[in-house]
Amino acid sequence: MPEARALCSSCDIYCQVTVETEGGQVTRVKAIDPRPGRANICMKGVHAPSGFAHPDRVLHPLRRKGPRGSGEWERVGWDTALDDIAERLQRVVDRYGPESLTRNSINGYKALRAFV
Ligand code: SF4
Repeated sequence: MPEARALCSSCDIYCQVTVETEGGQVTRVKAIDPRPGRANICMKGVHAPSGFAHPDRVLHPLRRKGPRGSGEWERVGWDTALDDIAERLQRVVDRYGPESLTRNSINGYKALRAFV
């Protein structure tokens, strides 16, 4: 079974891991060094492959079209999704000022967060 080094991205720690693949799909995620006290992987990382191929995995932007909690969504394009997010963030800045937004970076992962 082919193996490769990778970064687990199931959370923002980004642990270095070894992955086994089959047919281009990750089938197993395991610690690079599995010795007790050195294993760099948690159970969320171990079970990540079950989410990669899950039939309910979101693979494209969705916009809620019904009341919150109704589970009604419509597929939208990336440009539409990003324009919508930019518009909402601009409303936060307009209402609360630019200090209401911050960007954080952990191990190269970047996110924009709004504090309102
Ligand atoms: S192995 Fe666990 S702690 Fe490490 S990045 Fe993956 S989910 Fe996060």
